[in-house]
Amino acid sequence: MIVAIDGPAGAGKSTVARAVADALGVGYLDTGAMYRALTLVALRDGVPIDDGAALAELARAHPVSLENGPGGVRVMMRGDDVTMAIREADVTGAVSEVAAHPEVRHEMVARQRQIMGHGDWVCDGRDIGSVVFPEAEVKVFLTASVDERARRRHAELTGRGERVDLRAIRDDVARRDHADSSRAASPLVVADGAVVVDTTGIGIDEVVGKIASMAREVAA
Ligand code: C5P
Repeated sequence: MIVAIDGPAGAGKSTVARAVADALGVGYLDTGAMYRALTLVALRDGVPIDDGAALAELARAHPVSLENGPGGVRVMMRGDDVTMAIREADVTGAVSEVAAHPEVRHEMVARQRQIMGHGDWVCDGRDIGSVVFPEAEVKVFLTASVDERARRRHAELTGRGERVDLRAIRDDVARRDHADSSRAASPLVVADGAVVVDTTGIGIDEVVGKIASMAREVAA
């Protein structure tokens, strides 16, 4: 069974998807981490982020690996643990441009289908229910207001000791919403058959419980 969770930046997808995967006892695939890891290597290697063909080549040459462990997902690239590095501002600022290239998406989608080809998975991203796995048994579009999403991201970053400005974060969230929704290749849309869950003002546990019971009903 595949549970596909899509939605805009900061809707809580990763936290929710990981908790649903734990509740169901199945694997979790964070596709945003795959695009982020590619962006990090491109920045480190000086590959221009407007060159889709070169980026796709880079993705083929350096596939990211995601390891599910008790402390969360560890993101490994070329033998380095890049779990923290892929969340930094330079990567966040460039990832939407990298992810907009059709050649890059083609490569990533093939890899995601390969990873999830066997067994049960919870997967989060922007195009899982619409493109990667339109046949997913459970599809959720997770969203929240821009202000709420910016507040959550601000709390997450300050909790990690980073000094960040709420207004700048709100602008970044809005900018990524626009970039992800308006791009030509696989824009962020509510997939056919997806249930829209607005998490503004709702606790994570409630959202997790709701999605896990949808999945259990389908499996029953
Ligand atoms: O989920 P996260 O915010 O880490 O994703 C980072 C970026 O990767 C998104 O803003 C989006 O541009 C891109 N992405 C995508 N398709 C996915 C997952 C992420 O285009 N399935």
